[in-house]
Amino acid sequence: MLSEASKILEQLFKEKNKRSYNAFKRAQSILPGGSTREISFHKPYPIYIKKGNGCWIQDIDNHTILDFLNNYMSLILGHAHPKIVEAVKSQINNGTSFSAPTENEEQLGTTINKRMPSIKSIRFTNSGSEATSLSILAAKAFTGNKKIAKFEGAYHGTNENTMVSTNPKLVDTGTNEKPNPVPDGPHIQTNILENTIILPFNNQRACEKLLHHNREELAAIIVEPVLGSAGIIPPKQGFMQFLREITEKNDVLLIFDEVVTGFRISRGGAQEKYNVKPDITALGKNIGAGFPLGAFGGREDIMVQFDPRRENRIPHSGSLNANPVSLKAGLALLEELTEDNYKKMSGLTTDVVRGLEKVFSEQNIDTKITQSGSLFGVHFTSEEVIDYRSTMREDRIRKSNFFLGLLLNGAMIAPKGLGCISTPISNREVNIFLQKVAETMIYIKER
Ligand code: PLP
Repeated sequence: MLSEASKILEQLFKEKNKRSYNAFKRAQSILPGGSTREISFHKPYPIYIKKGNGCWIQDIDNHTILDFLNNYMSLILGHAHPKIVEAVKSQINNGTSFSAPTENEEQLGTTINKRMPSIKSIRFTNSGSEATSLSILAAKAFTGNKKIAKFEGAYHGTNENTMVSTNPKLVDTGTNEKPNPVPDGPHIQTNILENTIILPFNNQRACEKLLHHNREELAAIIVEPVLGSAGIIPPKQGFMQFLREITEKNDVLLIFDEVVTGFRISRGGAQEKYNVKPDITALGKNIGAGFPLGAFGGREDIMVQFDPRRENRIPHSGSLNANPVSLKAGLALLEELTEDNYKKMSGLTTDVVRGLEKVFSEQNIDTKITQSGSLFGVHFTSEEVIDYRSTMREDRIRKSNFFLGLLLNGAMIAPKGLGCISTPISNREVNIFLQKVAETMIYIKER
């Protein structure tokens, strides 16, 4: 049900976004629900983008918007960064894809290995979804086991094996000690549910029990080291090390889904930050600097299963895999991302977090703001945010009003309250953002 404030916001939004409305209407004639990407849809309809530069975007109704979401946390350097544009142009002018490999593959692979030494061997894909899907496939083939353990509320992409308990209703979730596997939709067959163990994030005791109980049949645990789409929920101290220890002890592989955290929360991703060496890592989003690119890699004895010279290999092809344009963008990106950049982005994110806490507490609005490196999550709750279930008890009306109100005031975060800092952002933009947040309070103070 919509609150009074929600109704006013929707009305204002519609008045201000007429061209986007028309674009959305036309889109509905050819795309289901007018959309080709679930995450970029929100009510009443999304704004349509004309262009972006640095940390600013412009929509087709000519609003200039401060972008604190960066295509869902995937553009660390912001929009149209000159170094990325230059790198991409240099490749495009020489052809965009071939029936044979380019040297870019080895170059980016080696660069990634230097930052993430656990990735001794790597393969490139076009998306994070393919990367997680192939990581799981590799783990199953390597261990000969069928079951996968994943965390409640974790999102690993459009990938049948992990589309379980991504966003379940609380009433369906069962006990926290033994969460139910809840299908993400009608397409998820019973055999997938039977082969998926759902783990509660940050709950060592329950994870240990569940893992021990299923260890004979488990191929791997897949984990987002910082729960991303559930709300940027960092692991409790020692939780990642604990996962490494129990997986080793029980002969189960550990897959880090670093599609969001990779090269984002630190120079070497979550595995560097938490000092844990996973068996397999899935990458995506950031590594392509805005171009379609994913990767998965890790232990050589696991990755060798993809060696095309082997009789009994896992076949893995893709017409646009290791696309030379995307690889060039990735190489240029990693060259730009120095230790200083990470320090600056984390510092600015902490300023955003402190600023948000101040604005909300001045208005007596209960919030918890989470942070990991340059990522942050706004939660309308007084409860500590430690897992998926704590986010489900938030004030959802306030959350969606905050998002829409902020967008009306010219700043973009995700409807789920996720945001991030990119390198073009400085103190100036942080102050503008916080000013816009303050102006948005009128929409969320009264519900
Ligand atoms: N894994 C995580 C943690 C993600 O957040 C996402 C996408 O948001 C994916 C995997 C899927 O990546 P892609 O959207 O590139 O398929």
